[in-house]
This record gives sequence, C-alpha cells and structure tokens, in this order.
Amino acid sequence: MPARILIVEDEAKIARFVELELEHEGYDTAKAADGRTGLDMALTGRFDLMLLDVMLPGLNGLEVLRRLRNESAMPVIMLTARDAVMDKVSGLDMGANDYITKPFSIEELLARIRAVLRTGAAAEKKDPVLRCGALTLDPARHTAAYGGEPITLTYKEFALLQSLMENADIVQTREALLKQVWGYDYVGETNVVDVYVRYLRQKIDSPFHAKVIHTVRGLGYVIKRGGK
Ligand code: CA
Repeated sequence: MPARILIVEDEAKIARFVELELEHEGYDTAKAADGRTGLDMALTGRFDLMLLDVMLPGLNGLEVLRRLRNESAMPVIMLTARDAVMDKVSGLDMGANDYITKPFSIEELLARIRAVLRTGAAAEKKDPVLRCGALTLDPARHTAAYGGEPITLTYKEFALLQSLMENADIVQTREALLKQVWGYDYVGETNVVDVYVRYLRQKIDSPFHAKVIHTVRGLGYVIKRGGK
C-alpha cells in the first residue's frame, strides 16, 4: 500500500507541483486549499502524513495543527516561510514532526517525507498493541478500543491511557503521570491528572463492565493487566 499524503496548501501552483512529484514517487495524494478543509480531511480520511502550510486562509496552519493534535498523532511536516523562526518553534512545540522552509527543493521534501514515514514505521515495530483485559491500545495507529468497540480519545487522553497501560499493575502517582504525559516543564495544577482520568472513565467505564482505571487512595492510579 502506498503511503497517503495530504497536501494542505493554498498556493495552487505549489500544491500542484508537490502533488505531481509525490505521485511520481508512488505516493497517493489528496489536496486541500484552506485550513478548515485540510483539518476535516485529516480527521476523517486515513492519511499517513500531512504537509501543512502555515499561511492558510480560514484556519492557519498552526491552528490546524493545534486542533489536529487534540485528536490525532498523524505525522505532520510544516511548510514555513523563510525567516519565520517563530512558526518553526511554535510548530514543533505543538507537535509537528518536522518542517521545511520555502522555497524548498523537491529532493529535500522527499527526503524529509521518507524520514518521517520511516520513524513512524519504526515506532510501529517498537510499540506493539497494548492489552489490559478487553481494553486495547495501538500506539502506532493511535487507536483504542474496548471489547473491539473503538474509543475516541483526545491526544492527551490517549497519552495518559498509554502511560497507565504501559505500566499495568504498577500504581502510578499523579506526579509520575504528570511528567510522562504533560512533560517536566508543565506548570499548572497537578489535578489536571484527576480531570483527565475522569474524562477517560467517562469514555471507557460503563455500567456493564468492571471499572478499568482504579484509584489507589493517597497514591494514584492503576490499570490491571487482567483488566479487573
Ligand atoms: Ca500559503
């Protein structure tokens, strides 16, 4: 299966040029000429990578990236204007996988696409599907399910669940979860962990099966490998 690449770029000539070159290389492509359309396509289509221009009508590229990262870990390469240092920094901060500065050579773009896709394939090998009872989580595909029924999670909810499942049967303190999911430099309330555990429970727990995420009073949270 060729990789599918979404090109979000409002300059028709650039978009067309990139599309032709990518198709020549054997990739499947789709195009969007504004931010909102690009975001919708990214969230509903199955793409392996998005090329995302920063300066876009409607939603700009950084806003598209921010909204995408609430729901998806799809690899993103930002297309930034020369000297737009802030765009690069903000883009990487917000979870872009790489960026390329305009004007770029097609060889450079292809090399970056190959590198990002390779990293994704390596992550797939490194991160096998996690299972705790009926709950499954696939880090490489960024999907989760309970008893085979898909669960839609935001980026942070997913990271929190992944962290709990990778450490199944081991009680995780709020501080440990905070570091793993929000990063060492997180400034804010530690109760953000409790808030997100509540979100997760609303999505996973149901009256029909046992509790999945257990509170260990005074310590933190744990998920049991057996699922109960
Ligand atoms: Ca543009």
